[in-house]
Amino acid sequence: MATTLFKNVRVLDSTGEKPYAGDVLIDGNRIAKVERNLNVITGENHRVIEGHGMTLMSGLCDAHTHFSWIDQPTLDAIGMLPVEEHILEAARSAATYLDMGYTMCMGAAAAKPRLDVVIRNYINAGKIPGPRYYAASTEIATIGGLGDLNPSHVAAYTFVEVINGPMEMRRAVRKFLKEGVDNIKLNLSGENITGMEAERTPMADDEVYEAVTEARRKPGTRICAHARSNESVLQCLKYGIDMIYHASFVSDETIELLAAARDKHFVGPGVAWLYQTCYNASDWGVTPEVALAMDYPRELEACIAGVKKMKAAGVRLVPGGDYGFAWTPHGTYAKDLEYFVDLFGFTPMEAIISATALGGEVMKMGHELGQVRDGFLADLILVDGDPLADITILQDRTRIMSVMKDGVFHREPGVPAVSRLALAS
Ligand SMILES: [Zn+2]
Repeated sequence: MATTLFKNVRVLDSTGEKPYAGDVLIDGNRIAKVERNLNVITGENHRVIEGHGMTLMSGLCDAHTHFSWIDQPTLDAIGMLPVEEHILEAARSAATYLDMGYTMCMGAAAAKPRLDVVIRNYINAGKIPGPRYYAASTEIATIGGLGDLNPSHVAAYTFVEVINGPMEMRRAVRKFLKEGVDNIKLNLSGENITGMEAERTPMADDEVYEAVTEARRKPGTRICAHARSNESVLQCLKYGIDMIYHASFVSDETIELLAAARDKHFVGPGVAWLYQTCYNASDWGVTPEVALAMDYPRELEACIAGVKKMKAAGVRLVPGGDYGFAWTPHGTYAKDLEYFVDLFGFTPMEAIISATALGGEVMKMGHELGQVRDGFLADLILVDGDPLADITILQDRTRIMSVMKDGVFHREPGVPAVSRLALAS
């Protein structure tokens, strides 16, 4: 087994402890030893990486990932891309995530039924670079719900699976499980920009029940939900949907229920899209005035207030900001950590723990992933600088000197990052 020794690094271990100087030994795909002093680990056969006091930390997790969103302004523009281009775009996104230090991603919907599954399979086979990944279904929505805005005369348009009633839901879920998805995505609430208001909750209880029941027939299957309205978050609680996205309009009573069930649920605010839609989408026609007319600033305000309350109540909050729209482009994923600090009042340490140790829990591997500890899987990034002093350095590709996943370097120290345009060999 190959051994690699990171010498003279500042270990940020994601246990909550302050970073300390040390050496970290990798054996195969695991962290064999984290040594809290320098130059204690000896042995001649290690490959030695001189850390020069740089920060060694866990790879990051994005809990709301869309490999097949292609930096376009609308869902239609994403949905209409032909499949040949689409699979290449999704592969580029996967490579970009890993390049930016993301070793864990949770798919939050694919733009075509098999895109996520195929990318995951190729990543796992070592044929293309990418993070550990939970492959998602397409979004499943009710008639007229989020995503069902498509030009329905276009037969090939499969961006969203539109269902009506429990039996159609059962069929949809079975179809996706047959294809091999890890994660079923339900659109439980509306979304202002699409014409159905965020506070509407169009999916009926018997449809949600059917989706969850059917998904549970295949052990290990996850369910996640677009849930901006309070009622949709209540559906997530009632039916045991583990990954709740957005939760913008969550009520105080619902927060109490979430806190009581904190071990069962994660909340991913996905705030990047909300924030950028309010303030940084003018180039695509969504000026602050347009955003105001769509009532997005009110939602952002509600989101910030709700997340602060959920944080105080101990709800597990995880980054992942709906990257892959024109105004949340791929590669900017670590903006989410900045938002957690600036908008939600997280300390940089809390934001990093949300993206690492909690990321391990999102991947259902919290006992062996997301922290720099003896025996944990070697998913590591070497960062030039102190992300606790400046959380934004995690957005800078030139500061992420090295990325290792499962004990293998995706990017070695001294080798520049591949661009989004380049697939690694
Ligand atoms: Zn999304």
